[in-house]
Amino acid sequence: MRNVVIIGSGCAGNTAAIYTARANLKPLVISGHEAGGQLSLTTLVENFPGFPEGINGPELVENMKKQAQNFGAEYLAGNVVDTDLSKRPFRLNIEGEWIETRTLIVASGASARWLGLENEQKLIGHGVSSCATCDGFFYRGRKIMVIGGGDSAMEEANFLSRFGSEVTLVHRREEFRASKIMLDRARNNPKVKFLTNTMVEDVFDVSQNLVTGVRLRNVKTNEAWDQEVDGFFLAIGHIPNTKVFKGQIEADAEGYIISKGGARTNIAGVFHAGDVQDRVYRQAITAAGAGCMAAIEAERFLEAEGH
Ligand SMILES: Cc1cc2nc3c(=O)[nH]c(=O)nc-3n(C[C@H](O)[C@H](O)[C@H](O)COP(=O)(O)OP(=O)(O)OC[C@H]3O[C@@H](n4cnc5c(N)ncnc54)[C@H](O)[C@@H]3O)c2cc1C
Repeated sequence: MRNVVIIGSGCAGNTAAIYTARANLKPLVISGHEAGGQLSLTTLVENFPGFPEGINGPELVENMKKQAQNFGAEYLAGNVVDTDLSKRPFRLNIEGEWIETRTLIVASGASARWLGLENEQKLIGHGVSSCATCDGFFYRGRKIMVIGGGDSAMEEANFLSRFGSEVTLVHRREEFRASKIMLDRARNNPKVKFLTNTMVEDVFDVSQNLVTGVRLRNVKTNEAWDQEVDGFFLAIGHIPNTKVFKGQIEADAEGYIISKGGARTNIAGVFHAGDVQDRVYRQAITAAGAGCMAAIEAERFLEAEGH
């Protein structure tokens, strides 16, 4: 029987592990399919406080993990594939093996949607990004492309126009899902150019380990062409990793956990941390802060229950 199990080993999960380990609760962290979380996908992180020269994403999360392990946190590779949160202790199935815990911190993140292009994953952190707030600054005076047709694509295109020499917004349809106000704002931005009815076939150039261009195709005329670009930003949404809690932890239509205040969920003893609940900020520092909140809530919950 565990006091605390933390699902996820990104910034939120690792921070929750540091706090609960220092509170002597001997947390168990289930690392999941993406050990280290989303930061393990990227290169330089320049906006996490405390690193004036920046720090590489994988190193930052590895440091957090070591810090948690120094205080006694345990890490288990594997995925939670099923859960029973109907009564306490909670039960979690980790790839076939059930474990029990008095409290649960869900820090399973929200994965960015990618287009699935052949070279896309190889160039993440080298010109391909899913986070304008994180990476826009690297593209000052450069050519930027944003993919998507919703509000977040419009928001990212406008935000990125502060940095780029030009921003091309590529959308595979004629119509946009974005609200009129967001669409108008992007349309009225002189730096943002629209390319509709256009899909991306691939992004180059893996041999240089750098984005230099994309292959585009007009879906109506079938015409294909290459276009030079330095920064390639996906803004086609995120998928919260909450499938294994469906029907138990209250979530919104897209699957994001609905907070019941602080780090609380609708289930007493189950807490949320990071991007799995946060559809707005999605930053390493906010996820780390949320991990701290969830840990303190779990500590207090256990104390109130006499553990
Ligand atoms: C390419 C890229 C670059 C970025 N750059 C920056 C940046 O420069 N600065 C910044 O502040 N933010 C950046 N971000 C955003 C930042 O990475 C996220 O906001 C942050 O990682 C969220 O942390 P998290 O712990 O909530 O979730 P995540 O980092 O997504 O971690 C989720 C964890 O849950 C695990 N998991 C999921 N499902 C299960 C399951 N069923 N069982 C067990 N484990 C599971 C995963 O394996 C993973 O370990 C970037 C994101 C990306 C994708």
